[in-house]
Amino acid sequence: DGTHYTSPFVPPPNAEGIGWDAAFARAERLVSNLTLEQKVSLVTGFYGPGGCNGNIAAVESIGFRGLCLQDGPVGIRLADLTSTFPAGLTAAATWDRTLLYDRGRAIGSEFRGKGANVMLGPSAGPMGRHPLGGRNWEGFSPDPYLTGVAMSASIQGIQHEGVQACAKHFIGNEQETNRGGVNVDGKAVDAISSNIDDRTMHELYLWPFADAVKSGVANVMCSYNRVNQTYSCENSKLLNGLLKTELGFQGYVVSDWYATHSGMKAIEAGLDMNMPGPITDADPMALTSYFGKNTTAAVRNGSLPLTRVNDMAHRILTPYFYLQQDKDDFPTVDPSTIYVLLQTYGYSPELIGLPPAPPARDVRSDHKSFIRKMGAAGVVLLKNTNGALPLRNVSNIGVFGNGAGDPSEGLYFEGTKAGSTGLGFEYGTLSVGGGSGTGRSTYILSPLQALRERTNARIQLILNNEFIAGGDLSSIFPIPEVCLVFLKTWASEGYDRSEFENNWNSTAVVNTVAAKCPNTIVITHSGGVNTMPWASNPNVNAILAAHYPGQESGNSIVDILYGEVNPSGHLPYTIPKNESDYDIPIVNITGDAATDSSAWQSDFTEGQLIDYRHFDAKNITPLYEFGFGLSYTTFDITGPLEINKVGSINSSFPDPTRKIVPGGNPDLYTTLFEAKVNVTNTGNLTGATVVQSYLSLQGTDVPAGTPVRVLRGFEKLALNPGGWAVINFPLTRRDVSYWNVERQDWQIPRGQATVSVGFSSRDLRVMERVGLM
Ligand code: BGC
Repeated sequence: DGTHYTSPFVPPPNAEGIGWDAAFARAERLVSNLTLEQKVSLVTGFYGPGGCNGNIAAVESIGFRGLCLQDGPVGIRLADLTSTFPAGLTAAATWDRTLLYDRGRAIGSEFRGKGANVMLGPSAGPMGRHPLGGRNWEGFSPDPYLTGVAMSASIQGIQHEGVQACAKHFIGNEQETNRGGVNVDGKAVDAISSNIDDRTMHELYLWPFADAVKSGVANVMCSYNRVNQTYSCENSKLLNGLLKTELGFQGYVVSDWYATHSGMKAIEAGLDMNMPGPITDADPMALTSYFGKNTTAAVRNGSLPLTRVNDMAHRILTPYFYLQQDKDDFPTVDPSTIYVLLQTYGYSPELIGLPPAPPARDVRSDHKSFIRKMGAAGVVLLKNTNGALPLRNVSNIGVFGNGAGDPSEGLYFEGTKAGSTGLGFEYGTLSVGGGSGTGRSTYILSPLQALRERTNARIQLILNNEFIAGGDLSSIFPIPEVCLVFLKTWASEGYDRSEFENNWNSTAVVNTVAAKCPNTIVITHSGGVNTMPWASNPNVNAILAAHYPGQESGNSIVDILYGEVNPSGHLPYTIPKNESDYDIPIVNITGDAATDSSAWQSDFTEGQLIDYRHFDAKNITPLYEFGFGLSYTTFDITGPLEINKVGSINSSFPDPTRKIVPGGNPDLYTTLFEAKVNVTNTGNLTGATVVQSYLSLQGTDVPAGTPVRVLRGFEKLALNPGGWAVINFPLTRRDVSYWNVERQDWQIPRGQATVSVGFSSRDLRVMERVGLM
């Protein structure tokens, strides 16, 4: 029924190379000359000598030099002389398509420079169903529209540099707790099953992947978890059905690392590439792979059709040729990479007979200035009273909190080391989170250092949170004109967060400082949603959510504090008043019950009502709502909202005669309406805002579970004082449809829709009704 069990979808559809015609034809021609063993080597990963996260071996005879796959997504992880970019969450908080695209290009160019064919990112899963999800920061937002736009811009940027993007993790990997199966007392227990109904799948979780496929993403990574009881990487409904048939995906499906649980079953379900190849990491050359020799044998004994192996090979080779990775100007893997890998995991290069490390290729170019700029653009000003910000002529500054200084445990936060406490390292600015999505920073510029470089003001400081919370602020005299409190919240792959508040006794820290300092400003570096019990403290004059800004952490925030950059970020999620306002718990089963695979069920019974959709449906007032963000200037919508019908709507359903292309039925992307508003900068400073358009579907046949309103358009707009601009929000067929479960198609409801435009999901200044069908 699509709710708790997956109905099988076989056989796997063959790619036709739509959009990649010449490269596809070439791949077909070349594959026809390969032996079965060569074809199988194209689909089976192994740990190559170059130090990449995953490899596919070269097949020299056809001009294929192999694949190097690397993490992703904040920059190339296991390499030296590279940059750490603002995290996905930070990028989403900019709501800026140009920056998102430029970020993709800059990251892509570093992967290319290091000889990596595949960047393992961007991420649209998790989306952020759970505010405490450990990996929410790697992706963009719990809103599918915003995440879809961000995926699309990122993928286009990355692939413009000739690097293959990977849309991950497909799909429903919304919690880290038992994401992939565990061993309890020697008993193998299956991963959590994300039980997602068909409509929620389409309107929420699949939506951004549709945008990714439409943008020509080269590959999609299936996730660790089960979906409706079946592991994602052997789930034919997901891979053959939704991805390759409905969305017309022409590239290849790669497994998450060790997320493959079968050979034949996975291949028949639509998995095309097995990563990293072996069944366990005790066998780096993949001699015991679920693929490899098993695949060859399955073809030889007639149980697996050769045509399927050909299709897998076509899907893998086509993006390689399309992005011209076979050309001589595509760099080979930087020889220093293997040394970084060995060093990171505690192996000595001499042990395996390697000569001393060669110098690393520096791929950073001028990305540092871009990172500084984007880090600042991802800062959200939540509160600004009593003229606290921007800072003007202050000569006595207080700096408080363990998030202000230099990281105390190195510049690489993979997780098991820094993250073992679940809180990360105690001292130092948190530029990115932990796990495979972290960065290996060449340097990290702390807020304290940036402040010292920016000003000659006296800086008094206390960096020890426990000490501050203990109440001894006697060293602070005279009272600073402004007290900056730097809080942080660790988030990492492998763990879900354990607390809503910022870490390290943050509330006591803020309250202690604010009790002494009437002009307190709180800055959070966080991987997601936090509660802020101190937000209404009258001495807390300003609050800035600075997210994970990347290596220029200090400069990015100091540019905002001093008004060199006018804040323009808006929240890509909702900050609640109380943690109980979010009521979807992470499933964690303990004790004997945990050894029962069937116990690990996560029923997505809230449907689409996550984040702001939940707050709207339940009428809960958040502290700071989705889409919210202040500026040092002010904006208004001037004049009425105008909605124009563009062309006629002949049918509630997309034209069934249209050929499916990447992204699905192209008719879904036909613009049906345009909403037009005039926006004015009504303040005294140049600045940028995010104008947002929300849609509410009304009408007798709008099914239950439909959100009160959903984001369906946004524009980042920079204006001089008094300046104005007209913005046009196109509304496509998909934008005004819901997923009809019986018809298995998108449907425009009979009745009306209300379009509302404003500066957040609750600050809606103009609205207009429009007749649909
Ligand atoms: C993560 C992926 C990552 C892969 C390779 C997995 O643990 O889930 O996101 O790309 O490892 O490092």
